[in-house]
Amino acid sequence: AFNFSAGPATLPEPVLLQAQSEMLDWHGVGASIVELSHRGPEFMGIAAEAEADLRRLVGIPDDYAVLFMQGGATTQQALIALNFANPRQVADYVISGHWGKTAIKQVKPYLDARVAATGEAGGFRGIPARASWQLSDDAAYVHVTANETIHGVEFRDVPDVGAVPLFADFSSSIASEPIDVSKYGLIYAGAQKNLGPVGISVVIVRRDLLDRAGQPRADIFDYRSHLKGESMLNTPPTWNWYLAGLVFKWMLAEGGVQEFAVRNARKSALLYSTIDGSGGFYRNEVDPAVRSRMNVPFFLHDEALDKPFLKEAAAAQLISLKGHRALGGMRASIYNAMPVEGVQALTAFMQDFQNRHG
Ligand code: PLP
Repeated sequence: AFNFSAGPATLPEPVLLQAQSEMLDWHGVGASIVELSHRGPEFMGIAAEAEADLRRLVGIPDDYAVLFMQGGATTQQALIALNFANPRQVADYVISGHWGKTAIKQVKPYLDARVAATGEAGGFRGIPARASWQLSDDAAYVHVTANETIHGVEFRDVPDVGAVPLFADFSSSIASEPIDVSKYGLIYAGAQKNLGPVGISVVIVRRDLLDRAGQPRADIFDYRSHLKGESMLNTPPTWNWYLAGLVFKWMLAEGGVQEFAVRNARKSALLYSTIDGSGGFYRNEVDPAVRSRMNVPFFLHDEALDKPFLKEAAAAQLISLKGHRALGGMRASIYNAMPVEGVQALTAFMQDFQNRHG
C-alpha cells in the first residue's frame, strides 16, 4: 500500500528490507544490533557514520554540533528554554499552526515567552507577513515551525530576524530540500517523518550558543553534556539510531537533498493541481505561497463523502488519508520516502472518485 501517514510515516522499502535481513545477525556478529552494547565497536561505528552521513546530507557546517536525543520534538521544545535562556529572558514565537502553539506551551514555565505573530485568526491558512512580527530587541531566540504538519503551512524562505538566533522546528521537512544551516541558531526534528522511526530526535546547534548560561538543569537535560558524552549520556535508542542511519544512507544514495527537492516539488505540484483543478470538489485552503510540500490537507465539497472516500481509498491500497482531528477532512503526507508513483496513484484515485461521486 501507499501510506500517507503524517508520522510515524512510511519508510523507504530498501531500508526496511535491509533491517529485516540484519535483524537476527548484524554483519555476522551473531547477534542483532538491538542486542549489542551501545559502547561496543559495532554500535559506535553506526553512530559515527550516522552523524557523518547526516552532516553530508543536510550540509551541516563544522561550527554546528549534532545531537541524537531521546524523546520527541516536544521534548526538545522544552529543553531549548532550559539550555538557552534564563527565567527572566524573553523568547519570541512566530506561530503558524498547531506545532508552534505546542512549542510555546512547552517553554512557558521557564521563561517569558511571547507571541511575536500568529496566523490563528486566519485559521492558520498563511504565515503572518514578516513586517507584522513584534520582535523583542533582547530575545534569547526567535522560534518558528519550518513546516506545520497539521495545517500544511511551510516557510518558503528563511525569515530575517537580525542578530537574534533563529530556532526552527524542522520535524516534518528536514532533508526535504537544501537549506542554509548557517542561517539558524538551532534546528531540531523528531525523526518519525523524514528521518526514520519515532523515538529519536536530531538537534543541530551552533556551538557558541551552547556556552549560554540557560537555567539550572540536570545533566540529562543539558545539551552540553550530551555533546560531551557523544549523545550517549545514558543508553541511547540504538534501534532508532541504527534505522535513521540507514535512512540517511538511502537518501544520499538516491541523490541527496537536491534530488528530494525535485521529487517533492513534483509530487506536491501534482497533488495541489489535482485539488485546484477539481472545480471545487476538493479544496485546500492554504495561501498558495506557503503551501506545504510535505503535508497536504484537503477537504471534499460534501463531508458526507469523507467516509466513502477513505473506504474506497483503502480498498485501492491508499491508506492513512484521514485528516487530523483538529481540522477534519483529509491529509496526504508525502515525505521523502513517498515515491512519485504513490502520488500519481492518489491523484488518479481522486479523479476517479470525483467522476463517480461528482
Ligand atoms: N513538531 C512538528 C512540526 C510535528 O509535526 C510534530 C509531530 O509529531 C511535533 C513537533 C511533535 O513531535 P513528537 O511527537 O516527536 O514530540
